[in-house]
Amino acid sequence: MKMHGKLVFVLGAIIFLAVIVAAVAKKPAVDRSEKAFGHFLQEFEAKFVPLSKEVALAAFQASISGQDEDFKRSADLQIQLNKITADPAEFARLKAFKKGGQVKEPLLKRQLDIIYDSYLENQIPVAQMEAMVKLQAQIEQKFNTFRARVDGTVMTDNGIEQILRNASDSRQLEAAWKASKEIGRLVAADILRLVKLRNAAAKQLGFADFWEMQFKLSEQDPQAIESLFDELDLLTRDGFVALKKTIDAFLAARCGVNAEQLMPWHYQNRYFQEAPVIYPVELDVYYKDKDLVQLTSDYFKGIGLPIDDIIVRSDLFEKPGKYQHAFSSDIDRGGDARVLCSVKPDSYWMNTLLHEFGHSAYSKFNDPRLPWTLRDAAHAFTTEAIANLFGRFAASPAWMRAMSVIGADEAQRIAAPSRDALRLQQMVFSRWSQVMFRFEKSMYENPDQDLNRSWWELVEKYQLLKMPVGRNEPDWAAKIHIALYPCYYHNYLLGELLASQLLYHIAGAVLKSENVEDQSFVGRPEVGRYLIESVFKPGMRWPWNEMIERASGEKLTAKYYSRQFVSGE
Ligand SMILES: [Zn+2]
Repeated sequence: MKMHGKLVFVLGAIIFLAVIVAAVAKKPAVDRSEKAFGHFLQEFEAKFVPLSKEVALAAFQASISGQDEDFKRSADLQIQLNKITADPAEFARLKAFKKGGQVKEPLLKRQLDIIYDSYLENQIPVAQMEAMVKLQAQIEQKFNTFRARVDGTVMTDNGIEQILRNASDSRQLEAAWKASKEIGRLVAADILRLVKLRNAAAKQLGFADFWEMQFKLSEQDPQAIESLFDELDLLTRDGFVALKKTIDAFLAARCGVNAEQLMPWHYQNRYFQEAPVIYPVELDVYYKDKDLVQLTSDYFKGIGLPIDDIIVRSDLFEKPGKYQHAFSSDIDRGGDARVLCSVKPDSYWMNTLLHEFGHSAYSKFNDPRLPWTLRDAAHAFTTEAIANLFGRFAASPAWMRAMSVIGADEAQRIAAPSRDALRLQQMVFSRWSQVMFRFEKSMYENPDQDLNRSWWELVEKYQLLKMPVGRNEPDWAAKIHIALYPCYYHNYLLGELLASQLLYHIAGAVLKSENVEDQSFVGRPEVGRYLIESVFKPGMRWPWNEMIERASGEKLTAKYYSRQFVSGE
């Protein structure tokens, strides 16, 4: 994760309320020249840049301490920051610069476009904002306090997942799965209201619906992304059908049923978004006596992306009250990046460390000569791609061997099952992402359709699961992202595509190797040099697909992801 998801949401909720204080519109500036925009930028940066650093520091501190006063301070600062981009008078000035067409110098024009969009999404009438905030907060609280009841026992999400992973009794699995879906009923009506409010706001800002607005404001062409998902569907369909048979045979034997009797609760996860464990690889044993932070430091140093200064500023181990997941925060776009983790010696945290320090390397090695506004990742999914590229190595026998985590014999022994497990994970996640992407698109297009049915049609089509007979429940509403992180899920899959595209490019063009599977980049500083020059330093100078084309010779494509995980070339 790049940011502190939950914190960002809570802050976001408060910010929306803060818009009430937005200033009254003044007359737009008459001077629309580049010079005048230069002045606007100076004023904007003088207000925005120091405050955004304070916000980042306060948010980082709050997630370490978990203290109410730290959260309050962090939220107060965030409110101040958001007042800046909610200001209608400033927005009118930006609009005039856009319309005037006199801002032509590429870096100035790029800044104008980006700043304009960040103001635009905050130009929603106060009452509507307030209604959305309240609903979001209400839904979040329901998710936070909901605990599934299985046969009279109250369970956390972790508890449910544990049953689904470990139990083999169909009745017990069914009870746990169904109990976990009860939250859907509690929030479905609120989510629907929220969806309609979001759509109304988007329409006022000139978009067809909220889904389209979210895509366009993050510089993603909805049709192009849909084509990519169509392509990916075609590429993965047959392979997934075959893999699904393997999964079904394994799970049927495990649960003592026929393959035809397998139901959604047999797949070891509430949503079948993660791969069931069907291959014999147990990675945790390799990491249990290792210093994961040292491994991370050594690895990044070896590839020419030293991150020891980031480690020093980071907060990497468990503390009471501390946020339990992980994130990387770019504090000032001036080299100060920090990571928050709760490291334990296992493969999950090895993956997480490589992932988060991938994000922070992207932040640290930016181009200090770029204007502040452009000194950020080209897109949320391009930094996820870098993070995934490194995170995946935690399960790579080639990487573990090169880092002396395991010996040559062990690497040889687990090579095949590791490859199978990685491939299965990607295929399962890819098919699940199709469901999320298509459901959200369809829901915002027509919120009044039979959503319960639409959800299961997609689950049956893309994940090849069977809807339980006669089921008519809002199972879509049980997935927290639908309500609280809307129209974002596709970026996770795009990040995976780009990670594969960069892996193939680095192996071939940078390391001059035909062999992709054995790549670990260990001790190869030319990899760091390439990433700094071609991916990190460009920042937001160009739209993300132009950066990708310049960096890899091609626009974003599903080809390499497919090669790595589908066809296995
Ligand atoms: Zn991430």
